Order: sequence, then structure tokens, then C-alpha cells
Amino acid sequence: MVIKLLKTKISKSSEIDVVVIGAGAAGLSASSELIKKGRSILCIEAMNRIGGRCFTDNGIFDAPFDVGAHWLHNYSGNHIVQYGLSKRKKFNIYEIKEDIIVYDGKKKVSPNHLVETINNIKKFKEKLLERNIVLNKDKISYKDDVPFINQIPKKLKDNEWFETAHQTLGACLAGVDFDKYTIFDEKLNYEHLGENDGFVKEGYGTLLADFRKEVQVSLNTEVREIKWNGKGVVLETNQGTIKAKSCIVTVSIEILRLGKIKFTPSLPIEKYDAFDGITLGAYNHITLKLKKQFYENYGIQPDTYFLSKIEKTSIPPKGFFGSLRLHKSNLSYFDVGGQFAKDLEEEGHDASVDFVLNSLRSIFGSNFDQYLIKAHATSWGKNKYTMGSYSSTRPGKSHLRNVLKFPVGDRIYFAGEATSTNYGTVHGADTSGKEVANKLLGTLIK
Ligand SMILES: Cc1cc2nc3c(=O)[nH]c(=O)nc-3n(C[C@H](O)[C@H](O)[C@H](O)COP(=O)(O)OP(=O)(O)OC[C@H]3O[C@@H](n4cnc5c(N)ncnc54)[C@H](O)[C@@H]3O)c2cc1C
Repeated sequence: MVIKLLKTKISKSSEIDVVVIGAGAAGLSASSELIKKGRSILCIEAMNRIGGRCFTDNGIFDAPFDVGAHWLHNYSGNHIVQYGLSKRKKFNIYEIKEDIIVYDGKKKVSPNHLVETINNIKKFKEKLLERNIVLNKDKISYKDDVPFINQIPKKLKDNEWFETAHQTLGACLAGVDFDKYTIFDEKLNYEHLGENDGFVKEGYGTLLADFRKEVQVSLNTEVREIKWNGKGVVLETNQGTIKAKSCIVTVSIEILRLGKIKFTPSLPIEKYDAFDGITLGAYNHITLKLKKQFYENYGIQPDTYFLSKIEKTSIPPKGFFGSLRLHKSNLSYFDVGGQFAKDLEEEGHDASVDFVLNSLRSIFGSNFDQYLIKAHATSWGKNKYTMGSYSSTRPGKSHLRNVLKFPVGDRIYFAGEATSTNYGTVHGADTSGKEVANKLLGTLIK
């Protein structure tokens, strides 16, 4: 990846066809596509690095550590996986076997009860959607779209594993708890492209950067205003003014909702409805580097999922989704999501780490700390250029992902995970960038 700082020469130029705002998966892919088609582009990024929410840090643990995206979702249909597999000398990529261990207090128990509860919630979701479609003659009616928690029968909620399943399917999958979750989002907006998940030992961020290495990025360049009242677009940035024929906005939905980029004149009102109707959930990795004796003493195999029962009184569910001994390393993730992740972020880094350590002490004994080498907690909601993890629609608002996608005035295009039919993922964001670049190419004057 060649990186350069924005030069005054470029910033004053009006020869640029497209400015791509953001160098995450979507921005890099849009830029790459436009470069391939011979267009002059400028990809600008507010942070001092590329990758956005998909970035591998090699310093914190002296080993590849994915600070954001980590799972290669839809493994069999994920085109970034295909790229990595074609570079076997560089990347160690593999499909995950999904071994799960479950604890109830200090006791290791069969995962069957939890898995059954998860499956029952999934089945109930499907039944609810079918009923809605039948009632509304093959259509989905938004008036029936209320928070999922209000629809779940008491019997299911009374199950002793309900809150653990709730955390897995809500907070840790969608980034929101069931009180903010709609079953319509996935039904209307998500396409299952492939089966299973995978990992890449070198890190998803490293793989993405290699995949898009031809894109030059101007770092530390923050867009503050997009003016589109004249011909083309004029972007006001902290590095000066940039003029271009059009632009692609790939920043997160929360950056848009908070008005961190001003549009002059304002965008059509539906766009602001979309910014409001789609939220950016919360999801963080609390990561521990542990001595190998811990894994040996408890017989923990590489890439084992680890869940501990969350008490029913714990609302929102306060627990973690563990992924232990990742890629045979001594790193383990204890991921938190939803409102609980937000609360921990507010309490700070040490409180997040303490929550995990206290939980592990209560499971493995008070001398658990003897295994600890280092701990780290992310706080994506506090990163001022992302402000959260990944998107989900508010109940009754699932149609707004389509509104978010529409270009404005044939000059301002929108891409990024929130616009994608594989929302909340890296490969989805990447695909959205490519698609939008091709849509835009059709409108550019040759
Ligand atoms: C903790 C966590 C775990 C995740 N786990 C997975 C996973 O396992 N698998 C998976 O597939 N996905 C996962 N995701 C989701 C995935 O990371 C995102 O869907 C994807 O990376 C989003 O890419 P994007 O290009 O749409 O947005 P971003 O990556 O957010 O890129 C937008 C870029 O715009 C920049 N920007 C913001 N404001 C400005 C401005 N004013 N001017 C210029 N630039 C600006 C930002 O700095 C950022 O680099 C995870 C995300 C998080 C946070």
C-alpha cells in the first residue's frame, strides 16, 4: 500500500473525477474499481491509517491482532477469502470448525441446552416472519415491526439459557440487544452468499490491505463539508479544498447521523430519515494474552468458542462471547456487544478488562491471574471516525437501507457496510464500494 499525504497541488486541482471519502473496505474497493477503469481519483482518509473498522495491529500483543473485523464471514462465498487463498505463501486462511465449550458457574456443561435455546429463538423468528408475510399477502408490513423482545413468548424468555442466547444472537451478532432489534432487517436486506466462517492468521486487516494494495490514500484528511450547489462537488477538509466531478461517501452511518459531514445544500429529507433509522451497534474485543499453561490445564483447543451462562436477572445481558486460543496463539477474545458494551466503554478500559477478569476468576478460580500476560479492550464507540461497530436498522425502519444507497444529484454516492446486502461485514462493505463505483461510472462525462 503506497501512502502519501495530500499535496496542495492535488487539493487545488479540478481534474479529479471522483473523491472517495474513507479508506475502509468500501472506500478502498471503490477506489480500486475506478482506478481499473482509468478514472482519476483521490481516496482520502481521516485517520492516520487505512482499513477503517478492519485493521490488524501487530504492536499491542507483538502478534497479529484484529482490532475490528476478525471473522471471514460467508467463507465459501467471500471473494476476499478467494483472494487470500490464491496467496497461500502469504496468508494462512482456514475454515473454522466451531468447537464450543459452555460453563454454568464453575461447572463445564454440555452446550446442548444453550444451542437448543438459540435454535428455538431462530425458529420463532422465522415463524413470526412467515405469519407477517401471510397476514399481509406476501408483503412485509412495517406497522407490525416492533422490537423483537416484545414479541418473544414468556415461555421462551423463562428458559434459563435465554439471556445467554439473547447476548449471542443480539448484542454479539447484531450489535444491539433484542429491545432495539428487528427481525425484518435480515429478511429484507441480507443475502446469504456462502456458508460458515473462517480465520486468517495474519489478520483480516492485513489481508484487506494486501487485497487493495494498488490504492494510494491521502491520510489525516478529514472531510467537514460537501458543497454541491454548483457543478461537481467541492469538499472542505482540514487539508484544504478539493474539487471533483463527484464523490463517494463511505463513512459509517453514525458519522452521517451526527452530521459530522455537512452537506450544502442539505440532502433530500429521506436521506436524513435513513441516517436516523439505521443505528451503529456496539461491539468490542476484550483480549487477553494468556500463558500456554492455562490452555493446557483446561484442555482448550485452538479456536474454541467459550460461553458462560448469563443470569436471567442480567438485563441487558451482561456477558461475553469468547474465542479462545486463536490460530494456535495465546490470544483469546472475550467480546461484548449491545448496551452492555456501551456501558463498559463509558466505564473505561480498565473496567472492561476487570469485567472479563472477574468473570474468569469466578469460573476458573481466584488464582486465574497467574495466567495473565497482557490485556487490551477496544472502544469503537469512542473512535471519533467510526463511533460504533456495525449497523442494524431500528424496528420499523428496515426499508431505509435502500434509501441510504441512492445517489444525490448524480454527484454524491453512498457506499459502506450499512448500504450492503451483506451489511455488518467486510466483504459486504467491499462489494458495496465496487457496485457504487460502477454505478457512478455510468454517469461520468467521458
Ligand atoms: C469490533 C468489530 C468487530 C467486527 N467483526 C467483524 C467480523 O468478524 N467480520 C466482518 O466481516 N465484519 C466485522 N465487523 C464489521 C466490519 O469491520 C465493517 O462492516 C467494515 O469494516 C466496514 O467497512 P466500511 O468501509 O463500510 O466502513 P469503515 O471501515 O468505517 O470505513 C470508513 C472510513 O471513513 C473514515 N472517515 C470517517 N469520517 C471521515 C471524514 N470526515 N473524512 C474522511 N474520512 C473519514 C474512517 O476513518 C474509516 O476509515 C466488525 C466491526 C467491529 C468494529
